[in-house]
Amino acid sequence: MSADAGSRGGKVVEYKPLLDEAIRLSAHKPNSVLLVDRGLAKMAMTEGRDLLWSNLRDQHLNDVVPCEWVDSTHPSYTLYTSGTTGKPKGVQRDTGGYTVALASSIPNIFCGKPGETFFCTSDIGWVVGHSYIIYGPLIGGMATIMYEGLPTRPDGGIWWSLVEKYKVTVMFSAPTAIRVLKKQDPALLTQYDLSSLKALFLAGEPLDEPTAKWISEGLGKPIIDNYWQTETGWPILTVCNGIEKTPSKFGSPGKAVYGYDVKLLDDQTGEELTQPNQKGVVAIEGPLPPGCLQTVWGDDDRFVKTYWTTVPGKMVYSTFDWGIKDEDGYFFILGRTDDVINVAGHRLGTREIEESISGHAAVAEVAVVGVADNLKGQVAMAFAVLKDGSLLSDASALLKLEGEIMKVVDNSLGAVARPARVRFVAVLPKTRSGKLLRRAIQAVCEGRDPGDLTTMDDPTALLQISDLVKA
Ligand code: ATP
Ligand code: MG
Repeated sequence: MSADAGSRGGKVVEYKPLLDEAIRLSAHKPNSVLLVDRGLAKMAMTEGRDLLWSNLRDQHLNDVVPCEWVDSTHPSYTLYTSGTTGKPKGVQRDTGGYTVALASSIPNIFCGKPGETFFCTSDIGWVVGHSYIIYGPLIGGMATIMYEGLPTRPDGGIWWSLVEKYKVTVMFSAPTAIRVLKKQDPALLTQYDLSSLKALFLAGEPLDEPTAKWISEGLGKPIIDNYWQTETGWPILTVCNGIEKTPSKFGSPGKAVYGYDVKLLDDQTGEELTQPNQKGVVAIEGPLPPGCLQTVWGDDDRFVKTYWTTVPGKMVYSTFDWGIKDEDGYFFILGRTDDVINVAGHRLGTREIEESISGHAAVAEVAVVGVADNLKGQVAMAFAVLKDGSLLSDASALLKLEGEIMKVVDNSLGAVARPARVRFVAVLPKTRSGKLLRRAIQAVCEGRDPGDLTTMDDPTALLQISDLVKA
């Protein structure tokens, strides 16, 4: 099933030529293709295969389609990870376990009730969209909103106008989207009646404290961070307010969700870290709870090797993220295990430096990478997007800001964490799901080939960086 086209930021994106090409390449070709003509683009129809929904709708309107009974372990779908750290992995999901996990998460984690409305701003092509635009709300008896468009068109108030119009009770988005809204007029957050909305959930990337505070204060609603992966299909860490009212802490997604035995392990020895605030790899003891991946599609060996054998001496699932746990059991995610840089013998997480830089009032968004340096091994290099884009052409203002930002880092983390340079760009290179592509930025800074860029959203973002670095 497909359509003639979609639309993004006012631009028509034709689907049919992409679909035809995909079918041409595939080994298993469908007998029929059902197409919705949205009147956005002309479609070339293949005789005998392509059917128009508008011609068949009336004819089948009252058809009853019986349930297809399958085993609980029957695969429901394969979905690829975002490709932030490398080649995306094909996550194979079951049917029964996934249904149980989602059904339980709606009341327990999202506090949604049958009859209410869920608004998840993700894309149905990503795991958050699969789980919380489609299956989760519908299994939980909720209405779901599928919105095609940017959060800034026609203006930065569009989402909140939908909340008012459809009396949304639960909303789910990503930090990257909130950082986009930060560049808009904050008055747009309070123009609509948001009294139906209970909370805004965010996931997908570390939620820095300045961004969380900005949106929480702007909306006057609780912001609930939740940490998970395409592999798990639903949250690993959060606060389960539907089970027991649990206060959130800024900067922490919360505690281990029921079903997940989350541990922090020493990456060198595999030993469990039991003291508060020790930094380790976030790992999950097997068996994983319902909903998590069954295997990597078509490659059981890769599944075992990638996820279950990287911690020495133990067969545990590695998330490849660093974390700490405080004395109250709240986890803090410190970034990915490959986002650590070594400056003159000091190990620093790029996320800590980013968090510190985001504290500067002029900064909307920032990426920090480690770049090879003859003297120090590596140095930190920062690329920031300003809330006020017009400053980009004002060289003296940028120089002043660079100095100020370096001071902010000096004061919060110390001089070793100070970036060698802070550069300013209009956009940062991201995956299509809105995650920073630090590995590509790092490659460009070191004059290396950034490799496979097919998961990148806007290729011009990387060109800007490469121009700056060469200049
Ligand atoms: P790939 O695995 O292909 O490199 P990816 O890890 O970006 O891509 P996803 O499954 O979409 O693919 O993202 C999961 C990762 O996103 C987590 O491992 C973590 O690094 C990050 N993440 C998700 N939610 C949060 C959160 N609330 N706080 C911090 N990090 C998060
Ligand atoms: Mg991953």
